[in-house]
Amino acid sequence: MSKSFQSLATKGVQQLKPYLPGKPIDELERELGITNSIKLASNENPLGPSAKAVDAIRAHCESVNFYPDGGGFKLRARIAEKFQIERACVTLGNGSNDVLELVAHAFLGPDISAVFSEYAFAVYPIATQAVGATANVAKAFPLDHETMPLGHNPETLLSSVDEKTRVVFIANPNNPTGTCLSVQMLKQILDGMPDDVVVVLDMAYNEYMDDSFQFEVNEWLAAYPNLVITGTFSKIYALAGLRIGYALSSPDIADLLNRVRQPFNTSLLAQVAALAALDDDEHIQKSVLVNNLGKAYLQTSFTELGLDYLPTMANFITVNLHQDAQPIYQALLKKGVIVRPVANYNMPEFLRISIGTEAQNQRFIRALTEVLA
Ligand SMILES: *Cc1c(COP(=O)(O)O)cnc(C)c1O
Repeated sequence: MSKSFQSLATKGVQQLKPYLPGKPIDELERELGITNSIKLASNENPLGPSAKAVDAIRAHCESVNFYPDGGGFKLRARIAEKFQIERACVTLGNGSNDVLELVAHAFLGPDISAVFSEYAFAVYPIATQAVGATANVAKAFPLDHETMPLGHNPETLLSSVDEKTRVVFIANPNNPTGTCLSVQMLKQILDGMPDDVVVVLDMAYNEYMDDSFQFEVNEWLAAYPNLVITGTFSKIYALAGLRIGYALSSPDIADLLNRVRQPFNTSLLAQVAALAALDDDEHIQKSVLVNNLGKAYLQTSFTELGLDYLPTMANFITVNLHQDAQPIYQALLKKGVIVRPVANYNMPEFLRISIGTEAQNQRFIRALTEVLA
């Protein structure tokens, strides 16, 4: 009985390549026997969680014998208030990754296609393939594009939609490029999209974008019933370890997502922490400030090292080493600095660096300078 189960899996799953996460600090230190490493690999908030969120977690530790509120009443109401929409428009997820999969489960399947760009977030192909749907990959802008090198091209996204397409995934700002579509380009996509195609606008890095890229979420949801906006508490809200995110959509789409959602997909502690994190504006403002300062420092340092980087509106910078990035990545690991290779995105000469604290950024630049010398 040594039959391989590979052949028994569904076709999409047989061909799936698992998501490659950033290397955890514990793993690196175990492997190399080193200490004091830093991780700039998963776009986590380097300031740590809001003290208000930590207090909320502490206050609820002894209630974890209870199931969470499966309907997430308080958190959904608070998110709805923030965006000035109805609570019925909000779906909670175990990270926004979960709501991306809910969309795939609700709208994709065999003989249906999803559209996303080249160099788009790795979860989109996984969510698409896992349910047996096919991917129409839209050509990105070329590397020498002035404002959006390797970024999403509205025209190819629209022309990749065919009669089998039910979902388009767009990350804005995009990961791993950091590039950001202007409000005008987003409108061009939404206006050109057939109204039976669900457009998922993944705004995991929304809070880091300049004001000129922001739009009124409530107005757009009202104007485009096929729009699903996803957000997360993993990035600026600094709760990645708790796994909580959300989708904003028409109540109609939210109803469908709710049908495929696990009844208790978000944990009790995640719900209370997210609720508290939403009330800590100071922590958010500080996080944006630290990110902007770190971004300027890293950009200047890259230029001094003669390296190009992609323009970013997020909390990471993707740098072009103009050589195989893998040995550089490995050499940085030996110095206790974890960054993110993006060869799996077809970008073998780039590394993606999460913007850290001032000390972390300086340590990374020192290590990179030594490695490149
Ligand atoms: C990090 C990230 C997310 C967030 O994932 P969670 O599951 O919420 O932790 C979603 N989309 C993109 C593009 C990301 O980079």
